[in-house]
Amino acid sequence: MKELIKHARELLENGEVAAVIGYRQVSAKRTKPVIITDPEETSALVFNEYCLNNLAVYLTKARIKLLCKKNDKVLKLAITAKPCDVHSIVALIQENQIDRDTIHIISFNCHGVAKDFGFDFNGDNLASKCITCETHKPLYYDALFGEVKETPQASDTALARIKEIESMPHNERFEFFKSEFDKCIKCYACRAVCPLCYCQRCITDKTIPCWIETSSHQRGNFAWNVIRAFHLSGRCTGCGECDRACPADIPLSLINRKMSMEAKNLFSFVSGRSLETPTLVGSYNEKDNNELFM
Ligand code: SF4
Ligand code: SF4
Ligand code: SF4
Repeated sequence: MKELIKHARELLENGEVAAVIGYRQVSAKRTKPVIITDPEETSALVFNEYCLNNLAVYLTKARIKLLCKKNDKVLKLAITAKPCDVHSIVALIQENQIDRDTIHIISFNCHGVAKDFGFDFNGDNLASKCITCETHKPLYYDALFGEVKETPQASDTALARIKEIESMPHNERFEFFKSEFDKCIKCYACRAVCPLCYCQRCITDKTIPCWIETSSHQRGNFAWNVIRAFHLSGRCTGCGECDRACPADIPLSLINRKMSMEAKNLFSFVSGRSLETPTLVGSYNEKDNNELFM
């Protein structure tokens, strides 16, 4: 922790960054995001198993970008990011939403996070994404901290559930998702926490013409959730934040993970893993698998 604080402090004192986006502890098993511009306040920064939020969501916010404008200069923004959050940053760079040169990535060797605030950190309460994590060390960073530690063992129940849903007959699968989406209250928390949901104006906010019914009834709920899944296909980095934020407990990560599995199987593409590989939806290859359209 000392190294993180020292590093953040130096960045601000030397005028290398306009702000540091990070976490501060609010109780034993809960942190919250913090945006620090004063070097004196860096002592609040922490990194641990309760740093759950994917802070990359802030990188595209207009108010944050304004912080970086000092006279004629544009200063960098420092962000503390778990290795999986770095995937979101990479995806945002690839989609031309942020510039790599304007971001200072402070990352960590990571052995996992709890599934939500208030839970003990152990195999029973490990975040689902950590069970299959392949990048405990970040793929890109400007500063790296944290010891290498072992991730608690846990079984991949989400994959088992996906396989179970896949094996359902079409009508049963449709009914399953219909009943899940029926619970949606259209709070848009899933959209608010998603780094890749950065549109200035989301299709669901357009009411003339009205593309998606805004009240939370069956037809509008189904349209919203299916359209959001399509818009995130091949883009979702699997951070799991939408799932965690959903107050209706809709298993959004099952849908997102299934779509990511399709992108990997059909196009060998995993979102946010490489700055050199073009995005899936932003590239064309005549050798691409066309099975979906047959
Ligand atoms: S998915 Fe990997 S990088 Fe992300 S919190 Fe879990 S262990 Fe850490
Ligand atoms: S769709 Fe959900 S899991 Fe995927 S990047 Fe957005 S918040 Fe993360
Ligand atoms: S967070 Fe859940 S309840 Fe809220 S809009 Fe998204 S799917 Fe619906």
